[in-house]
Amino acid sequence: MSDYVIPAPPRAYVPVAGGAKFPVRRIFCVGRNYADHAREMGHDPNREPPFFFMKPADALVIGGAPTPYPVATADLHHEIELVVALGQGGSNIAAAAALSHVWGYAVGLDLTRRDLQEVAKQAARPWDMAKGFDASAPVGDLVPAAGVDPTRGRIALSVNGALRQQGDLAQMIWPVADAIACLSTLVALAPGDLIFTGTPSGVGAIVRGDVLEGSVEGVGTVRTTIA
Ligand code: MN
Repeated sequence: MSDYVIPAPPRAYVPVAGGAKFPVRRIFCVGRNYADHAREMGHDPNREPPFFFMKPADALVIGGAPTPYPVATADLHHEIELVVALGQGGSNIAAAAALSHVWGYAVGLDLTRRDLQEVAKQAARPWDMAKGFDASAPVGDLVPAAGVDPTRGRIALSVNGALRQQGDLAQMIWPVADAIACLSTLVALAPGDLIFTGTPSGVGAIVRGDVLEGSVEGVGTVRTTIA
């Protein structure tokens, strides 16, 4: 029984390797977290504190499903990222304790309407419509945090079998623990929150028919076709 006036929307989730489901509350993303990507976007990585933006939870694309090419763009970009799934929340979490709040990790794509982002940047407007559009967050299966070292490991993305992005988690300007700590000073984090942790260099355009295959060493993969 429910007194909702319309049917309650479905709960977004990420599959866990083995068959269980991780319920998703919010999706936070770290901007410019690898120095080489910050430079390729025209910024000095040494001068900027971390900043965050969001995607809606129902932007997730799971299970290797196709990703529809979005409306309102002619310049859709890929950004391969390590995704953190929080099992415990909190405010003002100490960096030294932050990793104990992580339930697991996955590999995700922060898809970006780069043309809309450039317009937003030039007009000093929000990034929401550049980053938080429908199906903007393909993500692979989650693996439990035990056994994953989020401070190092190769991160890479191929498009149609050709390597486009390659880096190492050790290149993060704000490592996972610091990103959690910093974000928790801005909002009260909660179980079910995901954090996309930024992308290495090599971002670029994708078109209909492209097959994207991303990986993070020790975590897993993400795969989708742009439909
Ligand atoms: Mn990103």
